[in-house]
Amino acid sequence: MRREQASARHQQWTVCVFLGLTTLLWLGARGNALGDSSMWPFRAPAHLTTLWAASLAVLAIVVVVRANAVENLFGGLGEAVRWHRRIGLASIVLLGVHVALLAADAAHKGQSVAFVLVPFSSPEHLHQSISIVFFYLLMLLGLLAYDRRLRHEKWLMLHRLFAILYVVGIIHAGTGQSSIREFEPLRTLFVFLSLAAIGAWTYNVVLFRRVGPLHRYTVNAVRPRGNNIIDLILTPIDRRMMFSPGTFVLIRVPGFKGMEKELHPFSIASSPLERDLQLSIQQVGDFTRRLSYLSLDDDNPDYLRHRRDSQHHELATLEPQEVHVYGPFGGFSQLRFAGYRRVVWIAVGIGITPFLSMLKFEQHNFDFRRVWFYYLVREPDEAVYAEELDELCERSDSFIDVTTWVSGERGRLSAAQIAEDVEVDDYAVMICGNRRAVEDFSHQFLELGLPSARIIGEELQFRASPRK
Ligand SMILES: Cc1cc2nc3c(=O)[nH]c(=O)nc-3n(C[C@H](O)[C@H](O)[C@H](O)COP(=O)(O)OP(=O)(O)OC[C@H]3O[C@@H](n4cnc5c(N)ncnc54)[C@H](O)[C@@H]3O)c2cc1C
Repeated sequence: MRREQASARHQQWTVCVFLGLTTLLWLGARGNALGDSSMWPFRAPAHLTTLWAASLAVLAIVVVVRANAVENLFGGLGEAVRWHRRIGLASIVLLGVHVALLAADAAHKGQSVAFVLVPFSSPEHLHQSISIVFFYLLMLLGLLAYDRRLRHEKWLMLHRLFAILYVVGIIHAGTGQSSIREFEPLRTLFVFLSLAAIGAWTYNVVLFRRVGPLHRYTVNAVRPRGNNIIDLILTPIDRRMMFSPGTFVLIRVPGFKGMEKELHPFSIASSPLERDLQLSIQQVGDFTRRLSYLSLDDDNPDYLRHRRDSQHHELATLEPQEVHVYGPFGGFSQLRFAGYRRVVWIAVGIGITPFLSMLKFEQHNFDFRRVWFYYLVREPDEAVYAEELDELCERSDSFIDVTTWVSGERGRLSAAQIAEDVEVDDYAVMICGNRRAVEDFSHQFLELGLPSARIIGEELQFRASPRK
């Protein structure tokens, strides 16, 4: 059985087990009351949807814990983030359905709908009012999770607050008149779920920087590659990180004042056989642009300020800075798909990075494959790795056909065109780039009849890009 299929099954099973267990325990709590006409048609489904919403929210918090044991269950952190998005959305929708059902129930019984929807409409029911306030806050934060205008750090902060509110909401629900409070086994399940969510949140937000898989590196060089792309070359200070080609790391630069806590993901572009770690980075915003200040050469914007006259020649007093590298993470690695002998690689723009690592590893891995490799750029000057790719492909153990596809000149490349080049149908596809490109190609290959297990995507963004 393919690993990718196994992880998809794991995910589906996990959701089924969560929802099934919650439903069974709810039936245990409310079984006797199910014959009661007041429970139908709205009350019983309203109870159940809130429990489902809560258990899915916990699952959404837990799946993105940055621990290898958990990410292996979900096919890598990138895949876990995709699951987090789907489960999180399902949870919010279920919460909305829960409140709509409660309002319908009140209307059906001729009771006040305002009691369900308007906080403090009945001053003696404070618990109810707090629940309504929680609901609106969660809905608001749920909407903000999709706001593409928010800066990443602000968005992350709100997202973390969202998780806290959800857990506090679950605890609050458990202390009111609810099946959680009334039925011991259901209560035990929710205590366990709340602890799991609190543990995952604390690890990710509070402990990760200290106890996460940290490797300390120092900057060896920053090489400008043109077109706002740099290669950041890092040398290990003590423990060198081992990784599968294609995986990614989170980096932080303690010397970046005001940004010292920020963790940014980058795919590794070097081979695990090399001592130095290479990250190839497109400079798009504050953090990535600031990386040029790590250079020890005259491309460092601070170079002139650090230049001193010495006896014979001028010296720059720039010192190599420390970079904290956490990882490796992710499941975008050919090593995990050993059974696929014919592979199409599609790199969109800076999505070339994991393939650089795989190609460098290909020089020595004694694992022959047939590879069709497409490097997609809009304009010729964006193809800054084209020459290096040609050289690497020539020296590779595997047989690799490499095509640099400039869409500004040749139009958009389609899956159908690739399938014509490949000619056989037992191939797998690995795609890396922005979310839209990965989704587009995945859909096209699915339409051509390629099984989903043979389509392996890595999106270089955890949330949708801001609208242009
Ligand atoms: C799994 C993965 C692998 C990646 N690999 C590479 C790579 O090899 N090379 C490369 O150039 N880029 C890569 N990226 C993208 C890179 O992480 C962002 O471009 C970078 O974090 C932008 O930071 P900024 O402050 O310069 O830009 P900003 O202008 O702040 O952000 C630009 C975009 O990056 C996202 N982003 C910003 N900060 C973070 C953060 N801390 N964590 C996650 N996303 C963030 C934002 O949501 C926004 O869409 C990868 C992203 C992911 C998710």
